[in-house]
Amino acid sequence: MEYNTKMLSPDKEGIRAAAEILKKGEVVAIPTETVYGLAANALDREAVKKIFSAKGRPGDNPLIVHISGKPDIYKYAREVPAAAEILAEAFWPGPITMVMKKSDIIPPQTSGGLDTVGIRFPAHRAARAIIEECGFPLAAPSANLSGSPSPTRFSHVVADMKGRIPAAVDGGDCAVGVESTVVCFEGDRDVRILRPGFVSKEDIEAMTGIGKVICDRGVTEMINEGEKVMSPGMKYRHYSPKAAVTLIEGSAEALAGYMENTDGTIDSTVDSKVCAMIFDGDEEVFLGKKYITYGYTSEEQARQVFDCLRRVDDEGYERVYVRSPSRDGVGLAVYNRLLRAAGFEVILL
Ligand code: AMP
Ligand code: MG
Repeated sequence: MEYNTKMLSPDKEGIRAAAEILKKGEVVAIPTETVYGLAANALDREAVKKIFSAKGRPGDNPLIVHISGKPDIYKYAREVPAAAEILAEAFWPGPITMVMKKSDIIPPQTSGGLDTVGIRFPAHRAARAIIEECGFPLAAPSANLSGSPSPTRFSHVVADMKGRIPAAVDGGDCAVGVESTVVCFEGDRDVRILRPGFVSKEDIEAMTGIGKVICDRGVTEMINEGEKVMSPGMKYRHYSPKAAVTLIEGSAEALAGYMENTDGTIDSTVDSKVCAMIFDGDEEVFLGKKYITYGYTSEEQARQVFDCLRRVDDEGYERVYVRSPSRDGVGLAVYNRLLRAAGFEVILL
């Protein structure tokens, strides 16, 4: 189905118009503090199916259910461990998703056939207002075509979704820039990080009452074909531009040298289709080479990483060497996304 996609503002009128469309069981792209989401009524299986077709997303990849108040977790989760209450109190509204046993009103289309559900209370003002106006929770994966870099600017949503959905709400640039931290629980107190995000392992560990915090193997390791995973999104090549992405572990100097020493097919001369994605401050080392900078601090890199991956394609490059980020704090989330964008192709220099 081809839509004439309505572009809505995040004001009262736009929020009401978005909610009207959602109430009819249709899909609307909405801003959140992490990345733009492709929203539909999480309790309506037919509405949720439209998200999967707009994105081209595999049906076994579960959707996150977005709520507009902490007490709503008791409606959609059957068991709420003590650790979930602590994390909700500490980080909600905000960029952390908690996976818990689902209640029966969450349809299997939303949970990807699992008996659990991921729940988040987003901080973004417009996202919250739209959920409240709807009166039902919104299932909302990232508003990009499945596999491509997540949308952190309205122009990204337009590029991927124009014509595929009835409406999109323009909230400007996303403040966080990487998807929410996804956690599940072991017993009442232990936390397992399934997907790193802005709320870091260190942030969770600092909370009183939380037991062990474990980073799932899938955060930094490749999941083999057919292997069972706790977070289905982890097994897909993800977040990738059309250009070939390689992650480079090493200094700016080592990366620049590597680009000079590789043969003609992957060189970095002025008219080649190869570029580097480097830190702010590395520019001097790359004089005479093509490069895109993606920030210096981990927070800046989180905000810019997806936009930079899209720019690699927009600027016509066919290969990009990305200088691997720090893995501390939110840096681990940036690293996790880049690792998947690179299909786990990493070179240690
Ligand atoms: P996205 O909506 O694109 O941000 O992706 C959501 C991701 O959250 C999925 O790909 C999963 O990895 C994870 N997730 C959501 N719900 C669950 C769940 N019930 N169990 C495990 N992982 C989940
Ligand atoms: Mg996504």
